[in-house]
Amino acid sequence: MDPFDSNISDRANLPRNMIENSMFEEEPDVVDLAKDSTAFPTFPALDPDEVAYEPRSSRLLVRGLGENDMDEDEEDCESSARLLGMSFMNRSSANRPSSSPYARQPPPRSCSRPSARTTVVCVLFLVIVASMTMVLYFLPGCTFTKTGCRKANQTTPLVPVNPASSSGEPFPWNGYRLPQSVHPLSYEVTLNPNLEDMTFTGYTVINMSVQHNTKRIVLHSAKLNITGATFKLGEGDSKAVTVLEYLPRQQIAVQFSEDLKAGQSCVLTLEYSANLSHTYDGFYNSSYTDKDGNKRVLAATQFEPLYARKAFPCFDEPAFKATFLIKISRKTDFMTLSNMPLAKSTPLANGLMQDEFEKTSVNMSTYLVAFIVANFTSMTKNVSNTLVSVYSVPEKKEHTDYALETCSKLLEFYNDFFEINYPLKKLDLVAIPDFLAGAMENWGLITFRETSLLVGQNSSPLEKQVVASVVAHELAHQWFGNLVTMSWWNDLWLNEGFATYMQYMSLQAVMPKLDIGNLFLAVRFRALDKDSLNSSHAVSTEVNKPEQVEEMFDSVSYEKGASILLMLNASLPGEQQFRKGIIEYLKQFSGSNTVTNNLWNSLTQVEVSAQHQNVSEMMSSWTSQKGFPLVTVSRKGDEVTLTQEHFLLTSDDATHTSSLWNIPVTYVTDNCSLAPECRQVFNLKTKSGTLKLAESVKWLKLNYRNTGFYIVHYGNEGWATLIEALNSNLSVFTHEDRASLIHNIFALSRLGRVSLPSPQPVALRIYILHQFRSLMDNQTWTEEESVSKQELRAALLGTACSLGEENCLNQAKDLFKQYLQSNESTKIPGDLQQVVFTVAGQSDEDWENLLDLYVHATYDAEKRSMLRGLASTQDARRIAWILKAGLQGNIIQTQELPLVISTVCNGFAGYLFVWDFIQENWDRLIEKFPLGSFAIQSIVKSVTSQFSTQAHLDQARVSKPEVLLYLGGQGVLSETGPVRCIFAQGG
Ligand SMILES: [Zn+2]
Repeated sequence: MDPFDSNISDRANLPRNMIENSMFEEEPDVVDLAKDSTAFPTFPALDPDEVAYEPRSSRLLVRGLGENDMDEDEEDCESSARLLGMSFMNRSSANRPSSSPYARQPPPRSCSRPSARTTVVCVLFLVIVASMTMVLYFLPGCTFTKTGCRKANQTTPLVPVNPASSSGEPFPWNGYRLPQSVHPLSYEVTLNPNLEDMTFTGYTVINMSVQHNTKRIVLHSAKLNITGATFKLGEGDSKAVTVLEYLPRQQIAVQFSEDLKAGQSCVLTLEYSANLSHTYDGFYNSSYTDKDGNKRVLAATQFEPLYARKAFPCFDEPAFKATFLIKISRKTDFMTLSNMPLAKSTPLANGLMQDEFEKTSVNMSTYLVAFIVANFTSMTKNVSNTLVSVYSVPEKKEHTDYALETCSKLLEFYNDFFEINYPLKKLDLVAIPDFLAGAMENWGLITFRETSLLVGQNSSPLEKQVVASVVAHELAHQWFGNLVTMSWWNDLWLNEGFATYMQYMSLQAVMPKLDIGNLFLAVRFRALDKDSLNSSHAVSTEVNKPEQVEEMFDSVSYEKGASILLMLNASLPGEQQFRKGIIEYLKQFSGSNTVTNNLWNSLTQVEVSAQHQNVSEMMSSWTSQKGFPLVTVSRKGDEVTLTQEHFLLTSDDATHTSSLWNIPVTYVTDNCSLAPECRQVFNLKTKSGTLKLAESVKWLKLNYRNTGFYIVHYGNEGWATLIEALNSNLSVFTHEDRASLIHNIFALSRLGRVSLPSPQPVALRIYILHQFRSLMDNQTWTEEESVSKQELRAALLGTACSLGEENCLNQAKDLFKQYLQSNESTKIPGDLQQVVFTVAGQSDEDWENLLDLYVHATYDAEKRSMLRGLASTQDARRIAWILKAGLQGNIIQTQELPLVISTVCNGFAGYLFVWDFIQENWDRLIEKFPLGSFAIQSIVKSVTSQFSTQAHLDQARVSKPEVLLYLGGQGVLSETGPVRCIFAQGG
């Protein structure tokens, strides 16, 4: 299967990895030698392994430097093209719209017999260019630039044709993606973790089938010390084999003297030992302190996206699906969990028990495999033939009720909605005490941070909203992601956008009281704000390197992905077309892998109305280019002209794009503006379009209920009529429409299209208090049931106290005092904890009290509110202490460091301390949080959030240039980070 979306080939003419891995600082001179790319033959098909999965830029470069595995006829014409076209061949792919970014074209026959003259010219060119290239190549640490090779290559050195494996022998593969010649069918993984010395040994048996003749098997392995390997072909005998390892790409290989033949089956067995990971990925060790103060250890896994290879050697790409049989040994006072139910437990000679789990009943991707060794307890319930359990550390067992209840309702909802029953016999939800992500959707064994799964008896509806949202999201993945999986990480949004969309959709249906619709609205505004930066990227984006894969886990994949699905659902003509389309998609691709277009095709094929809509045509404009449109409305009498342009917050020297979107513009007018029937649709596919309105219509409001992913500018007159309408009747619009008007006018002000008054900071305080004081004063400090009222209260009181409003500060201090004096038996309402603890964090005495409470608190949500309170201190010594404690991980778990840093950075002077702290500890930070990960993105964004001068930018460039790469969360994906926008906007 082509792992790349054919949609993206058009825009892949400048592969990002080529520009940004610093192979070429600028276009190399050789490009100029071959301007007419079509004059050169295209590449012939090679060994099937070679066809697909390697970043073409590096591949062409390397091939041009001398790799030779084609026959002579082919090479005659090829070589000059290779040498001359190292990069132009990439560029010319724009002229070959049908080509996949990595696929090669069949050889043109006319190329097989060159004339003598051509041959001479070819040879001459070859000699000259080869000499130049060799000189450049052999200069150590060089990068190709227009001025030759004088610039140190700081990130990616040139990789030779056959990189040397760790033993010194040539490694038989040179690509990030694995060859396709051998596919895994099943794994049997036996693990023996030792939780005392934090090591483990493993024994992995992989059954494989050979797809194409090949002399090598290449798979992933990271930080595993392989101590033995055997290989068995078909019915033959097992033979010991040598395993070669190429550390930079976390790959191992076995090479054979004879071809393995297509259709043959074979078995590779690997024995190894390793340390349990001390970061948050792979098979990692974790610990917590129990209620008696004893340290308890456990081991858990986090494999998405690239870390299954740290626990067992495997073909660690999502499209290599297989079955898994897991065996784990444990001490008798521990228990184990894995994706499947326990099949049997066998006592071992060394006094340990070995738990064996049933073989997975489904083919699954490696990143979804999971296992845990711990001493957890559970609550269990049977739901539609699935045994649902929620696991936690023993003392938090009573906090699992809510998750169990919520999961049960959602499981029934999804079974019904997708018309496909959850395919496994059991579903475990496990709260892990030390866990970096919010949750992970491992099939049948979903792991959570404690805050995302456990809620106490007194928890507020807002805390329950968090748990319900995360459970709904992870459960949706059991279909979107687990049953049907993206072929490669470039289409991660197929997993994440869908799960995010389904989490809001399902909760609106199943638990309407949670008021999840407003949360989704806020998420869409946030997605627009992030996607308006030049550093954003297309929803479906080419990725190869591990950091690029990590970076896909961002707002674009999750939040924009969900937003465009909502827009699509709202614009489809038939009521049920969206649901029927996704059922069709899930059924058609059940157990396999997909690309974005598979989804659009399924949605197009389902005809439920006479009005045909080509979903693919509409949606590709939203997934294949970054950003979103600004729709400007101008009206003359009965004629309304809509014009679209890229809404891009950027400095003047940044690229201005001519992107166009296929926008299903919705609108309502003063004749009818509230009910869904009022909504009218106009498809804007070109730069501008015109629609007719009766002259009597006073105003029109676009983007009904803000279901579309665009911003609207009505011009002075248009805004005036809308404001007038609101002044006379606030309820003339739905609350989503009112919110979208407010959001859009602020966004337009950032873009410089409208001017809003901008008071000085002191005046701003007075202005805010003047506008909101009566609302602030009306808030209660006791329990409140309604989620939206809680949110409003938390926002108003949080603002009031941060602005030093006396009444608020006194109330918060009183509540904290009562809480302390009653020995925590007086509860602070969940939504007010943050306000109260933040106020406490500002005083010397209460900060110490708060620290004491934090150390002894067990309930995670409360603990995090306390931590935020501690980190909001303005005391320099305390700021320094809390940052250090977060890195050490004893008093404050290291998983909380991103939260600590973002809170400190919100303070007046804190960001300067954090900037120093990050510079000093960068290496330790990236050891704990992988480059590109959400955690490192968050850290870098926090620390630079208040940088707003050229001096800051210069300082960042000089002292920590790699930080700039990660600004905006799309560092390697972007040419410029939002820092440019920050400077352009002046704040
Ligand atoms: Zn997810």
